[in-house]
Amino acid sequence: MAPRRKKIYEGKAKILYEGPEPGTLVQYFKDDATAFNAQKKATIEGKGVLNNRLSEFFMQGLTNVGIPNHFIRRLNMREQLIRQVEIVPLEVIVRNFAAGSIAKRLGLEEGTALPRPIVEYSYKNDALGDPLVPEEYIIAFGWANQQDLDDIISLALRVNDFLAGVFYGVGIKLVDFKIEIGRVWDGDFMRLIVADEISPDSCRLWDAKTGAHLDKDVFRRDLGSLTDAYTEVARRLGVLPTNSTNMKPTLIN
Ligand code: UDP
Repeated sequence: MAPRRKKIYEGKAKILYEGPEPGTLVQYFKDDATAFNAQKKATIEGKGVLNNRLSEFFMQGLTNVGIPNHFIRRLNMREQLIRQVEIVPLEVIVRNFAAGSIAKRLGLEEGTALPRPIVEYSYKNDALGDPLVPEEYIIAFGWANQQDLDDIISLALRVNDFLAGVFYGVGIKLVDFKIEIGRVWDGDFMRLIVADEISPDSCRLWDAKTGAHLDKDVFRRDLGSLTDAYTEVARRLGVLPTNSTNMKPTLIN
């Protein structure tokens, strides 16, 4: 029997295993869903398979337009091969319309168009509930320097333009999203690339016509079936072929 591969890290929705070659990892997508800093938890059958496919689709799309990211290739229904990175301990959030915490903080009605895309940062720390932090904290505590932040903003806005366009094309409004950034080294030269995942777990996606939620808010706010919402996103993007008889998407490898 082959030895079980080494687990490097287990998070709320994914597990990272040692990869087949140095500098690579295997990213496994679980069916677990959490919200409100893991106070609300559930296992949602099929979520991991959908997010593996969707994250592949978006990361491959970023590669196609020249935005560097960790994705190498999908291995199977739940796993993908990625570049090992050193994660910058920030959640980089880009907002196009007000929703969630910014709507609450500033008393804005959800859906209000923002004057321009807003990039903000939370410090990745579950015990503290990922607090919003200003650039001043990030630089003072050494999580990233000014040059890194300039590069992170540029990456975040390029990802926003790409994703907003892709979603617009399938009748979905990209309200906001979160990405994570990783450092990779080529010799002494350090580069920042998009890492983690891009999926409806980390975006707010509203149907352009009806405003229906097609993202993790379905779970956070008990709005129905999360798998149905994610399947709809995948179907519109052509990530899942539909079976014409019952319109139920078939998951193919
Ligand atoms: N987000 C995320 N992980 C987090 C916090 C936020 O993926 O730990 C995403 C969230 O899905 C949304 C965006 O970042 O698309 C902005 O979230 P917000 O700050 O409004 O927080 P929330 O109201 O979701 O707690």
